[in-house]
Amino acid sequence: MELERKVTLVTGASRGIGKAIALKLASLGSKVAVNYVAIETSNKVDADDLVESIIRLGGEAMSVEADIRGSEAVKAMVEQVTDKWSKIDILVNNAGINRDTLLLRMSDDAWDDVINTNLRGAYLCTKFALRSMMRQEWGRIISISSVTGIVGNTGQSNYAASKGGLIAFTKSVAREMGSRNITVNAVAPGFIITGMTDKLPSERKEAILAMIPLQRFGQPEDVAEMVAFLASDRAGYITGQVITIDGGAFP
Ligand code: NAP
Repeated sequence: MELERKVTLVTGASRGIGKAIALKLASLGSKVAVNYVAIETSNKVDADDLVESIIRLGGEAMSVEADIRGSEAVKAMVEQVTDKWSKIDILVNNAGINRDTLLLRMSDDAWDDVINTNLRGAYLCTKFALRSMMRQEWGRIISISSVTGIVGNTGQSNYAASKGGLIAFTKSVAREMGSRNITVNAVAPGFIITGMTDKLPSERKEAILAMIPLQRFGQPEDVAEMVAFLASDRAGYITGQVITIDGGAFP
């Protein structure tokens, strides 16, 4: 049990990649706080179902509601976790959205919403979770960026800016936190099968598949494996890095 006695907070963990990460880290012994946002009641049900699954498998978990765009909400979420388990060792900045459209058609709302969720949300969660990590002089921050944040993509200028910003943020915080034994890394998935990619038209999916040397789309578990490694002591000398998980599409 590599992560025994560790406490992890995963944002946006009720489904998709976040859910796979929560399950993987729980299977390695970490207590896991499953963040969801209460926009639809089904989000709470999904988060509570995941908590129950983890407990049934012998792990420990709690669900915690917060819209990560808001400073007060994030502060309260971090307090809820530290009140229950006294600390946070591992933060996974996973929550994210896309609102794709060409730049000339983009509304200010679509720009702000994506930047506020993907970048400001990660900034707030990192800032509040770091306090506990600094006290104990051990911590892991892992943010889910995207290959789009490295190479860009038509129709995703808001999303690419948020994910590229997340990489620059990761590298900067890694420099600030090295002396505290806190590592800060990002993973950059390519096309992973989740609700986010489900909605793409099939012709677009076929075109993407043709670009992938490993000839399959990624699964949420492919991302979770790398997050588990970066969270472990085995990755203790790795910080400020971005690991691409895209089946070889963008070497
Ligand atoms: P998803 O299935 O759409 O899940 C997104 C998660 O983010 C949901 O759990 C959602 O919570 C949460 N979320 C959204 N806004 C939030 C907010 N304001 N506060 C708290 N949580 C919020 O997407 P996914 O594919 O698993 O994506 C997970 C991460 O991987 C994202 O950062 C995404 O950009 C990144 N990524 C995905 C792919 C891909 O191909 N799928 C590729 C590269 C990067 P609710 O369920 O409560 O709404």
